Amino acid sequence: MQAWTVDHCAPIDDGPLRRLERDEPKPGAGQVRVRVSCCGVCRTDLHLVEGDLAPKRPAVTPGHEVVGRVDALGPGATRFAVGDRIGVPWLAGTDGTCRFCRRGAENLCLEPRFTGWDIDGGYADHCLVDERYAYLLPDALDDEQAAPLLCAGIIGYRALLAAAVPPGGRLGIYGFGGSAHLTAQIALHEGLRVHVLTRGEQNQRLAAELGVDSVGGAADASPEALDGAILFAPAGELVPVALRALDRGGTLAVAGIWLSDVPALNYADELFQERRLRSVTANTRADGEEFLALAERFGIRATTTVYPMSEAPRALTDLAHGRFGGAAVLHN
Ligand SMILES: [Zn+2]
Ligand SMILES: [Zn+2]
Repeated sequence: MQAWTVDHCAPIDDGPLRRLERDEPKPGAGQVRVRVSCCGVCRTDLHLVEGDLAPKRPAVTPGHEVVGRVDALGPGATRFAVGDRIGVPWLAGTDGTCRFCRRGAENLCLEPRFTGWDIDGGYADHCLVDERYAYLLPDALDDEQAAPLLCAGIIGYRALLAAAVPPGGRLGIYGFGGSAHLTAQIALHEGLRVHVLTRGEQNQRLAAELGVDSVGGAADASPEALDGAILFAPAGELVPVALRALDRGGTLAVAGIWLSDVPALNYADELFQERRLRSVTANTRADGEEFLALAERFGIRATTTVYPMSEAPRALTDLAHGRFGGAAVLHN
């Protein structure tokens, strides 16, 4: 089979990915093999390829928004049948025994494994998944629509919960790409007022098309004080900007796995009055199941730009340079 691999970590414009011929993987105990139909392109893939996140093993295949059909079962795998359409997400495994797993916070597991970082992901013809961490996908979503939900959607949903906006409250969204445009739809369906602050004309246009309450530039002042905000842009300099936009008691949730350095904060203007700053780390399987059910119920639609799998580097380059709105999806 063909598989993209990270040859060496380098800026995406310098060609760090290489496509190799590899043996089809054989599913181990409790695993199933997926014949990849689509794989979404997440900003985390870019951080891994460019070395912002340290590699965990050489020549890994990226991709953790994988949609495909089960085409082989490992010993003891009983959850799915051959032919089932499943999604393979970022969280690939946990130890199940650490203090965080035991209290239902498996997203904080001390020994987690991630698709496309610890184990080979979906920028390939096939990949493997521990059946306990895969999702059966709702029929209402086609492959291309389902792919971006598997990380961008689920993590955005967890960030929305973390921002703790009360019913009917005011949400700020900083940065408006693959994850934000899905999260905004959930927030609007839940009756929140949504203010989007982002750079990029395409991102601003997409936000306006989705019917948010206002759209402004990334560092603009919010038109009203915010009960909660989510920072999707990997830009630490926006942390104080977003904190200043919060009302008393408001929460800023940082959704990304990587953020540039946060500048010094001013306690009086940016944290006092019980404003909170918190991060969002991966997700639990319960977050994923809950989000996919909501996505089906609300009819959440991903705006996608499709590339053939053979052009994975171009998709990542376009992501790095902000050349598309919404989410990129690779198609086999
Ligand atoms: Zn654990
Ligand atoms: Zn991701």
